[in-house]
Amino acid sequence: EAAFGAEPQGTAPRRRVVVDLGARSYDILIGPGLIDAAGAEIVARLPGIRAAIVTDETVGRLYLTRLSVALRAAGIEHVEIVLPAGEKTKSFEQLAHVVDAILAARLERGDAVIALGGGVIGDLAGFASAIVRRGMRFVQVPTTLLAQVDSSVGGKTGINSPRGKNLVGAFHQPSLVLADTALLDTLSPREFAAGYAEMVKYGLIDRPAFFDMLEADLGGVFGGGAARGEAIRVSCEAKAAVVAADEEEHGSRALLNLGHTFGHALEAAVGYDAARLVHGEGVAIGMVLAHRFSAELGFCPPEDADRVAAHLAAAGLPVRIGAIPDAPLTVEELMRGIAQDKKVEKGRLTFILTRGIGRAFVANDVDPAAVEAFLARELD
Ligand code: NAD
Ligand code: MG
Repeated sequence: EAAFGAEPQGTAPRRRVVVDLGARSYDILIGPGLIDAAGAEIVARLPGIRAAIVTDETVGRLYLTRLSVALRAAGIEHVEIVLPAGEKTKSFEQLAHVVDAILAARLERGDAVIALGGGVIGDLAGFASAIVRRGMRFVQVPTTLLAQVDSSVGGKTGINSPRGKNLVGAFHQPSLVLADTALLDTLSPREFAAGYAEMVKYGLIDRPAFFDMLEADLGGVFGGGAARGEAIRVSCEAKAAVVAADEEEHGSRALLNLGHTFGHALEAAVGYDAARLVHGEGVAIGMVLAHRFSAELGFCPPEDADRVAAHLAAAGLPVRIGAIPDAPLTVEELMRGIAQDKKVEKGRLTFILTRGIGRAFVANDVDPAAVEAFLARELD
């Protein structure tokens, strides 16, 4: 008996999550083979549109023809914009290029930008769609696990500035998210595991039963099929709920940063060198640190911190700072990263702490000296 229950009968299983934002509500459709139905699903919601598909070279080589054929079959006229793969593409330069290509194609306000790719393409294409003609329609076709469970949901779009990551952007919700779970089969195991860390995060924030399910069926989620689809659905539902409660992050949306304060500090300390640490790996280590730190402060049972570490390690993720290749990182470096990442108000830090698995909370009053002492012991 699979931990995630039986597949729906009939054709390829398809799941649906609604992001409830009043007049701007939208569907997330999840299932294998959805890319081939993209034209029909888009036309049903945005009749008569024309479009620009934005993708990167890697994803484009794999999936652009299929998406293009599906759009054409539904009568959606479109242009294709193919960009280099990688984080560097989230730049002013590439934004200018995308904006120009959209305008050159004479797309109108009611037309759509379709992001086919991971979080890099989703963030960049989404931002372009937010600013061209003061806001075009936007459709996400996320192709990484991270994009399917995190970046394609919630409406944060943007690019990096030479002064830091994600510093320029806008909130702009998509009209539709199409998460084709079969596209994840071509993802590297390392990228898949990195996305999995964000999935685990939702269990740790406020869904302990989901964490139990993941623990019980880790192999199923990595293997594909029903368990994977269901885990993606629950993750989208979890993120959608947080976004619906606090769309523009005035309060509780900050819970999504669980593990991210430590994680960002680690990413910064290795100079964002993806060969040493990708974002999801930083988040994995960061979530373990957040639980261990919470345990030290007396909030979280130490057994829960051990359970989190054991599960992430079983998923092939690093769970200790010492696991980062060539990582003689210092407390000073990490504290600098933490101070940069999070607002320090009157000498206190905002941090996501936890009372145990599924019981995370926003703490506005963390003493930096306590963090420093904790990290010194962790690095020892
Ligand atoms: P990415 O978009 O760079 O994709 C990772 C790599 O996988 C790329 O080289 C890409 O070409 C390749 N790839 C993508 N799909 C593939 C597939 N199906 N098969 C084979 N290869 C494939 O990175 P990512 O991890 O998806 O996203 C990271 C970005 O997301 C960061 O810029 C981050 O800031 C952003 N992000 C945004 C939000 C948000 O709320 N907007 C949330 C989390 C992360
Ligand atoms: Mg993240």
